Amino acid sequence: MSEKVYCKYCGKEASSVFHLTTGSCSNNPEGKNHVPYEGSEKSKYTCKYCGKEASSIFHLTASSCSKNPNGKKHVPL
Ligand SMILES: [Zn+2]
Ligand SMILES: [Zn+2]
Repeated sequence: MSEKVYCKYCGKEASSVFHLTTGSCSNNPEGKNHVPYEGSEKSKYTCKYCGKEASSIFHLTASSCSKNPNGKKHVPL
């Protein structure tokens, strides 16, 4: 039971959803806290707005997305 959870907006890693969502997220366009990524762990993550691919959520969300209507960063599918 060592499954990790990741924030879908910034890629922050935590040991549980509880620990993840207690921290504040500077990339979240809808609120202040980290939001867990619902999908399963993948070898490659794709931005749902522009299709950009990255090897981790952290790397995907580190750069800005010109097609994201709500925020500034790429958001994993
Ligand atoms: Zn976050
Ligand atoms: Zn994008």
